[in-house]
Amino acid sequence: MTTPVRIAFLDRDGVINQYLPGEYVRTPDELVILPGVVDAIKALKDAGWQVAMVTNQQGIGKGFMTPADLDAVHAKLYAALDAVDARIDAVRVCPHLAVAACSCRKPKPGMILDIAAELGADVRNAVFFGDTDSDAAAARAAGVAAFHLILGGKRTAEDALQTKYFPTPPDGVFPDLLSAVTSLLQASNI
Ligand SMILES: [Mg+2]
Ligand SMILES: [Zn+2]
Repeated sequence: MTTPVRIAFLDRDGVINQYLPGEYVRTPDELVILPGVVDAIKALKDAGWQVAMVTNQQGIGKGFMTPADLDAVHAKLYAALDAVDARIDAVRVCPHLAVAACSCRKPKPGMILDIAAELGADVRNAVFFGDTDSDAAAARAAGVAAFHLILGGKRTAEDALQTKYFPTPPDGVFPDLLSAVTSLLQASNI
């Protein structure tokens, strides 16, 4: 029996790095990787998961930063992962303005479905870790197995209980990515 391809989808701002309300992370110095994130991604990789990052970066569409600026920001993250022999396997960025009504910007599921196709995975074997209702909506629209809300980003524990934000409640609510991943891996190792 072959093991199905399992994907952990991660939002970026508020999950991997510190969320800056009303601001964009434009330079590597502004990318503050949250505690435990490198360990969490390493644990996923060691457990055989594919790890994907899907992020809306409207700051590019607004002209506040260039794709090259974003590459420099992400290079800092990749270097931190490389230092522990971990990595992110697939990345999608939506650079478009919200008004552009593209098919990739969350809450649409385009980036999730695109990566699942690339990695040859059934989205039912995927989970999503996000900090917003937009992440949850994208995850639900794509049909992933579970959406886990990471606190400390855009939405609070009180928001998690509100159907106006989460018509379907999050499957888990965690203070940070590492605790969420630890819980996931314990559950799926049974
Ligand atoms: Mg976020
Ligand atoms: Zn887009």
